Amino acid sequence: MDTIPSFTVDHLKMKSGIFVSCKYALSNVILTTFDLRMKRPYHEPVMETGSVHAIEHLAATYLRNDEMWGHKIIYFGPMGCRTGFYLIMLGDLMPEDILPLLERTFDYVSEYQGDIPGATPRECGFFIDMDLEAAKADAAMYYNILIDPKKENLRYPIKKEKSPDAKKGTSTKGKKTGSKSGAKSVKTDTTPLKNKKSETNPGVKKEISDDNSGEEKSQKEPK
Ligand SMILES: [Zn+2]
Repeated sequence: MDTIPSFTVDHLKMKSGIFVSCKYALSNVILTTFDLRMKRPYHEPVMETGSVHAIEHLAATYLRNDEMWGHKIIYFGPMGCRTGFYLIMLGDLMPEDILPLLERTFDYVSEYQGDIPGATPRECGFFIDMDLEAAKADAAMYYNILIDPKKENLRYPIKKEKSPDAKKGTSTKGKKTGSKSGAKSVKTDTTPLKNKKSETNPGVKKEISDDNSGEEKSQKEPK
């Protein structure tokens, strides 16, 4: 089982993305808690409550109905700071394992039309606080991260150790790589995003019609 570095997370340094927050070993199962960080803390505005609420209803519905992973969804709910969601799943998992699932989920949310499931006074505690358009925009921005994640979008920033080994960028300590359809290993890739397509990331970057798109663009520049 992987060592979980979540206690070292510096929220000033972390990026948006998917991270393993922690893992719980119960008697004979392991639960993985993912940090679905949709907004980079202190660099982007947090989500409005109406957006968070609509995403919660839509994504929870989608996740639980997913044919492949639905039976492994234990919990999905928002962070109080409104920068993202927690997703608890059955199994010893890594972000790469659920990237396709999350791409499907946030594609669904970003394109959603119609009535939001569960948005009635009988089914929800404050159903009028829903903003579908904001939810779709926030989901689209997150989707764009999901389809082309860098390492910094999949692993929490780790405190630098003094040992020389810690400087090697190729360290895979504590990682389960396997041959699964994981994230691309990204170097200084300058290929325009729209020309990229792979089996695991079939998505096309979504156009987002608000002022935040400039901020996102700057994140795509190679370091
Ligand atoms: Zn609700």
